[in-house]
Amino acid sequence: MKIGILGATGAVGQKFIRLLQNHPWFEIAALGASERSAGKKYKDAANWVEDVELPAYVADMTVNPCDPKAMEHVDFVFSGLDSSVATEIEGAFARAGIPVISNAKNYRQDPTVPLLVPEVNPDHIELIKTQTFTDDGSGWIVTNPNCVAVPLSLALKPIYDAFGIEAMIVTTMQAISGAGYPGVPSLDILGNVVPYISGEEDKIAPETQKLLGKLTDSGIETPDYPVQATCTRVPTLNGHMAAVTVKLTNKPASIEAVREAVQGFNNPIADLDLPFAPKQVIKLHDEERFPQPRLHADHENGMQLHMGRLREAEVFDISFVCMAHNTIRGAAGGAILNAELLVKKGYLQ
Ligand code: NAP
Repeated sequence: MKIGILGATGAVGQKFIRLLQNHPWFEIAALGASERSAGKKYKDAANWVEDVELPAYVADMTVNPCDPKAMEHVDFVFSGLDSSVATEIEGAFARAGIPVISNAKNYRQDPTVPLLVPEVNPDHIELIKTQTFTDDGSGWIVTNPNCVAVPLSLALKPIYDAFGIEAMIVTTMQAISGAGYPGVPSLDILGNVVPYISGEEDKIAPETQKLLGKLTDSGIETPDYPVQATCTRVPTLNGHMAAVTVKLTNKPASIEAVREAVQGFNNPIADLDLPFAPKQVIKLHDEERFPQPRLHADHENGMQLHMGRLREAEVFDISFVCMAHNTIRGAAGGAILNAELLVKKGYLQ
């Protein structure tokens, strides 16, 4: 399939280009960015920061403006657009009959738009049928969650299904790459921790709740557990970690029972043979010093969710840490997996 990338010059756009090299189903056929970049060769428009060579066939492609007319020949687009422009541009592509698979936050809470993690809520793609961008249903939008809501939702899913969630306290330790490029000033982050990431804490409750929500005839029915979130930026490169304490609904639940629920997680896409799906989606570490971003974020091509430190909590019921690669599982790789699921389910053809 021929695909386009909106926001191709940015940090997420570059990750798409890197990850889509040699993809068995998807071929990059168009690149879109702002008027600053449009008309230039990609190699001149983008400040390539990936640690592999810029693929030669992409280097010489001319960057388009993010206008559906300029990208009519693609089957669908991935979006890594800045949120200041994503509402307008993604909406224009959907209205032009070009499906959009987006990383931006703009449409995540639209009740007709799936917020999708294939192993957590694959059935939510049915929401696409309720979208009204085009009369014939050819244009639609699917989003993936914020980069820290991805590991949280994957870790919470087996626990929520088995025991329910009453309340949650989360402290995140988020890698520098999550801020894009050039990102956080070096003098702020070297040898330091910044105890606030603008806009991040407010996304955790609504995004994990929508992901864990149940699809009904009238939309997604969401749980409404309260969340106390503190999001911090730490000087790691890749891999967002979260320390989580959960109050369960169905009690008592022994740690062994929680462990069994996590290890016995029934991955709903396990049999679909999707190229970007990790073989083992949740890796539960027993070693108390694991998981660590530097050691584990790249496992299974950056698509695996790592959990560890699972234990009884002094406050609430259980505590654990979870971690996943933020720009792969939490952004471009997650969007590619979403597209693969949509192909397999017949929404993209
Ligand atoms: P970024 O590096 O700042 O890139 C932004 C992209 O948007 C660039 O390609 C830029 O093109 C383009 N753009 C800006 N203004 C535009 C306009 N008026 N018209 C068309 N294109 C325009 O940002 P990023 O870190 O890649 O993040 C991209 C999106 O993904 C954001 O919505 C972000 O919240 C989300 N996200 C990021 C991460 C992450 O880990 N970084 C994770 C999950 C989600 P020019 O180069 O031409 O300006």
